[in-house]
Amino acid sequence: MIEDLENLKQLQEIDLRIHEQELAQKQFPDTVEELEGAIKKAKESLENYQTKLNKTQAEVNSLDDHIQKSRDLLEKSQSKLNSIKTNREYDAVHAEIENQKNSINSVEIRKKNLLDEIEKLNNTIEEKSKEYQQIKSENEPQISELKKKIAAIDSVIAGIVKERNEIAPKISKPILRTYDLIRKKRKNGNALSSITGKTCAVCYKVLEPQLYNEIKRGRKMLLCQNCGSIFVWGGDSKE
Ligand SMILES: [Zn+2]
Repeated sequence: MIEDLENLKQLQEIDLRIHEQELAQKQFPDTVEELEGAIKKAKESLENYQTKLNKTQAEVNSLDDHIQKSRDLLEKSQSKLNSIKTNREYDAVHAEIENQKNSINSVEIRKKNLLDEIEKLNNTIEEKSKEYQQIKSENEPQISELKKKIAAIDSVIAGIVKERNEIAPKISKPILRTYDLIRKKRKNGNALSSITGKTCAVCYKVLEPQLYNEIKRGRKMLLCQNCGSIFVWGGDSKE
């Protein structure tokens, strides 16, 4: 019986390692997704500002065209002044010139505002570009590390299962069955309460002295009446 409980301790240690790998198998893909999502978000933010910059630059170019055309018209109007014959004509051309000058002025004010915006956008893009590069250089090595682990996890589990298959047949079937039942019900996969003191290691219920001594002797399988864990002796056996 003592040997059964000793083997059970080893089996539990093996099962916890399998459990850990299985949790990782579930968690690693989520972590990869999170890390990739952060890179994507930073990239999109940078691209948004770049699009904004391109649009603003395009608007400045079209304003330049507009200014150039208005200046050509202004020149034509000004050259008309030389060949004017009546006062009415003179007034009309002057009004024309005034309108063209006003139009050029307002477009130039708009252009000035856009150029200020372009300067700000360039600064923001520089910042966003640095942020993107930083996130990429931080996350990409983690992603490739995790992907390697994900790819290897099946064979890691297979290796541990091999260890399990060596130990499990050495344990008597009723004990093994009880252990597996309890273990599968537990979220953390731990079925054993490894006793080193006067309380259950899982639920902390105080152990009666007689029970404590029986656990220490380890002659039979004993379950905690409170939490259902299998007691194994975890202290110094020479004690
Ligand atoms: Zn307990």
